[in-house]
Amino acid sequence: MEGLFHNRDMKGIKDNERKKNLLLSLGFEEEIARIESGNCPFCGNPVKMEDFKDELSIREYYISGLCQSCQKFFDEEEIQLSPTYII
Ligand SMILES: [Zn+2]
Repeated sequence: MEGLFHNRDMKGIKDNERKKNLLLSLGFEEEIARIESGNCPFCGNPVKMEDFKDELSIREYYISGLCQSCQKFFDEEEIQLSPTYII
């Protein structure tokens, strides 16, 4: 699993200045602050890489910053995050 975390082609939201600035301009200050601290933007709990069950979950984390539990929540409820958040 470790190799996935060092994939050069996959930049996390935390390292994506363009995306962060865009989200800030949309009013996601609190969410960005959580991501900066290594926490989940939705529940605010620390995100642990070992909690992710597969590559898809890690990919989702890179896109949205959501922890495994929140990803599960969104899957089960079939709720999509606002399209403005996932860019
Ligand atoms: Zn969460």
